[in-house]
Amino acid sequence: MNELTNPPTQTAKQNIFDFTLEELGIALESAGFQKFRAKQIYHWLYVCYEEKFDAMNNLPKDLKAYLNQNFTTQKVRITKKEQSKDGSVKYLFATDDNLTYESVFLKMKEDKWTICLSSQIGCKVGCSFCLTAKGGFVRNLSAGEIVYQALAIKKDQEIPSNKAINIVYMGMGEPLDNLTNVTQCIHILSELNGLSISVRRQTISTSGIAPKIKKLGALNLGVQLAISLHAVSDDLRTKLMPINKAYNIQSIIDEVAAFPIDSRKRVMFEYLVIDELNDGLDSAKKLIALLNKIKAKVNLIYFNPYENSPYKRPKQEKVEAFREFLLKKGLLCTIRESKGLDISAACGQLREREINQKG
Ligand code: SAH
Ligand code: SF4
Repeated sequence: MNELTNPPTQTAKQNIFDFTLEELGIALESAGFQKFRAKQIYHWLYVCYEEKFDAMNNLPKDLKAYLNQNFTTQKVRITKKEQSKDGSVKYLFATDDNLTYESVFLKMKEDKWTICLSSQIGCKVGCSFCLTAKGGFVRNLSAGEIVYQALAIKKDQEIPSNKAINIVYMGMGEPLDNLTNVTQCIHILSELNGLSISVRRQTISTSGIAPKIKKLGALNLGVQLAISLHAVSDDLRTKLMPINKAYNIQSIIDEVAAFPIDSRKRVMFEYLVIDELNDGLDSAKKLIALLNKIKAKVNLIYFNPYENSPYKRPKQEKVEAFREFLLKKGLLCTIRESKGLDISAACGQLREREINQKG
């Protein structure tokens, strides 16, 4: 059977990056092709970075024709790239319906790379410190639109295909609000015939939607978890993150305690340090009490101000004193370096600037 006996429907072409290897194999089989062709296609797409089906020269002609008629690789493109002095790079992507979203490439050390992916355009959670929240929620990104960020950046940065990359779902959007597509993306990225980014190297960062943390845990993917905590009292957390009204600090801690985590790993608690608001040692002390039953580590993030932002960047000595305090009490703590400060560091900021400039 080929495309003549099984004519393609006239619907819009599907984004091939939305498909897991298994799903692609099934689609090919049901169109009369051999399943193993899916592996070859994956290799072309994710290892050779070949996006033209006609150039996939070990595929038969009728398969190329079927792919051209039914699939596209052109749903997303890079529209802007900004290099920071410290080596981090910010990318702006555009969808085929002309919406923009961004990703950040971070070179941590020699041979250690992290790519920060967006999962939605906009965000429903509405945190008061976050630029992504300002424009409201637009739509979920499809699995392929999320996947493409990692693929395009790995290619653009010329990272050798055998080198491991870390993925953090910490760009625009709330990944647990788009759990189906994010889960699909995790499977696609970890495929050994493709980008082969192990699930253990992928971290989902969430604002703490407690029931969705439970749901993610039940999926038992082996993915790492990061919680954006940012405050140690419900009062302040609700001011920063209105979602705290629905899921307060204790409800999040309870879900994290029940979350299946690799015994060698820790759950990361992100703590956005804001000048005069949550940067005191009293907060550090409460943080220790809060996390005392959890295998946790803390990542302190400098609040990165933007035009008319309601908060200020904390003083360096305060952040360092906070970290010292946690370390002395035995709580692992790192400070997220102000990577890419000269290129509008926090996610959402490059996109916002582009939109403002355009009008
Ligand atoms: N929605 C998820 C993941 C995306 S937000 C979450 O909230 O965890 C990713 C990170 O960007 C969050 O930890 C958030 O605190 C941080 N962030 C948002 N605005 C920021 C700003 N102005 N300065 C520094 N970090 C910011
Ligand atoms: Fe959404 Fe995360 Fe921004 Fe909050 S910090 S508005 S959850 S993207």
